[in-house]
Amino acid sequence: MVVRTDTPEVLEARKVIVELLLARCPQVEKLRELADQLGVGKPRFEPDKDDEKCILCGLCVRACQEVVGVSAINFLNRGPDRIVTTPYDMPSDVCIACGACAQVCPTGAIRLDGEDVLRHRELDLGPPKAIHVPFAQAVPNAPIIDTQSCIHAKTGFCKVCDKFCEPGAINHDMEDESEEIEVGSIILATGFEPFDCSALLQYGYGRLPNVITGLEFELMSNAGGPTGGKILTEDGKAPASVGILHCIGSRDENYNEYCSRVCCMYAMKFAHLVREKTHGDVYEFYIDLRAFGKGYEEFYKRCLREDVIFIRGKGAEVTDVCETPEERGKLVIICEDTLLGEVRRIPVDMVILATGLVPRKDAAEVGRRFSVGRSKDGFFLEQHPKLAPISTASDGIFLAGACQGPKDIPDSVAQGAAAAGAALSLSGAGVIHLEPITSAIDDKVCGGCKICISVCPYGAITFDDENKVSVVTEALCKGCGSCASGCPSGAARQRHFADNQILAEIAGALMEGT
Ligand code: SF4
Ligand code: SF4
Repeated sequence: MVVRTDTPEVLEARKVIVELLLARCPQVEKLRELADQLGVGKPRFEPDKDDEKCILCGLCVRACQEVVGVSAINFLNRGPDRIVTTPYDMPSDVCIACGACAQVCPTGAIRLDGEDVLRHRELDLGPPKAIHVPFAQAVPNAPIIDTQSCIHAKTGFCKVCDKFCEPGAINHDMEDESEEIEVGSIILATGFEPFDCSALLQYGYGRLPNVITGLEFELMSNAGGPTGGKILTEDGKAPASVGILHCIGSRDENYNEYCSRVCCMYAMKFAHLVREKTHGDVYEFYIDLRAFGKGYEEFYKRCLREDVIFIRGKGAEVTDVCETPEERGKLVIICEDTLLGEVRRIPVDMVILATGLVPRKDAAEVGRRFSVGRSKDGFFLEQHPKLAPISTASDGIFLAGACQGPKDIPDSVAQGAAAAGAALSLSGAGVIHLEPITSAIDDKVCGGCKICISVCPYGAITFDDENKVSVVTEALCKGCGSCASGCPSGAARQRHFADNQILAEIAGALMEGT
């Protein structure tokens, strides 16, 4: 059988159907496009309502019944009164708000509550949907299911994703597993966290609309982000003016004294993006600009040419209390302009807080587990800041990236490559030469109190449960002597520093004529 879909009769019938649908739903963009394609002019029939969007295709009803399996919606009434709704047009007890109906609806007649309102709090890097790819460059680049949001994990229903996944790659019964892998060296590249600026009440983050963090702006300006790359205020309009506040949580003795090293440059990148995408005014509030990398100074000059307004002075406060008519309905940034020597109030539509970098919350735990110390600012401590920036005090454990201190992408890449090289050279060495000065525990004397284990800063001592004695792993021991001085029974001794050797050295030093 041959089915023809483009005969004059079929096209004529299609035009009449589109004309009828357009008469019912004159505002639906998709229908207008279809009508244009088919050459349908103004419908001959008068529409009942101007704002009707449902064309009664029934796709939503089928999705709810056949895919989700709950039948929360169906057709009601007959003839011109026919509509799609919940039973008795009442709020449904069985609707699980999965949004499948809204997804399949071709005209946008069904929307989830609040879906059309841009909410900046949702720009957080938290999961936008229960099943999602964590971020565009994720490795592996595969979706994950967030069990906090997954309807199936919470109610046992749904499994819409199962039905749509043709290769059957989704397994809802999978659970987290831990695996032990033996390795020769370890690279810690655990990264950083953005500073939590909700603690800085003066900037209104979380309280005032349109005050967002740098990471939220990054997500918003990303083409794959929630606004498709458009820069929008919470009411969905492009901002006419944007203020960017530098050093939020950095170079501040109340929080972190160090410079986060990346914020000046990413703040200027934001300024460039705002100018390019919205042509709005951009104000950068800075203490001093640290454009230290290759090409960075040139980028600063480019921002100046693009008419970004740089105000030297840290933003002191963001308020929505207006004092002049031009401040009405705006956010007002208050700062001391240290070049003009005066306090200024700058009204803007959006404020971006250039938040600094802080150590991850689990840095202390990770450091303890890998016997890696931390510097005063909480980042992992390298063996030597200039001569051994990738090594740690523990042999075979290396550092890469912002877990060692704030750094930008080129520096992180360089340090990562260096750490990988160091780890590879260790693996390929075959024989490793150890320092001769290590500790040893005499198993005949050891009482099994485990004090040595608690005092060893390098995690070099383990407990032999069978023989009930402590044992030194010589490859890890640094010969610091903490165990020897802490051991109450004298079982732990430092090689080459036995009491009689030290006493002999003292006696030799005190001998007459020496
Ligand atoms: S949200 Fe899901 S369950 Fe509710 S009506 Fe739509 S498809 Fe059915
Ligand atoms: S079962 Fe699949 S589709 Fe349903 S909520 Fe969970 S992830 Fe989403």
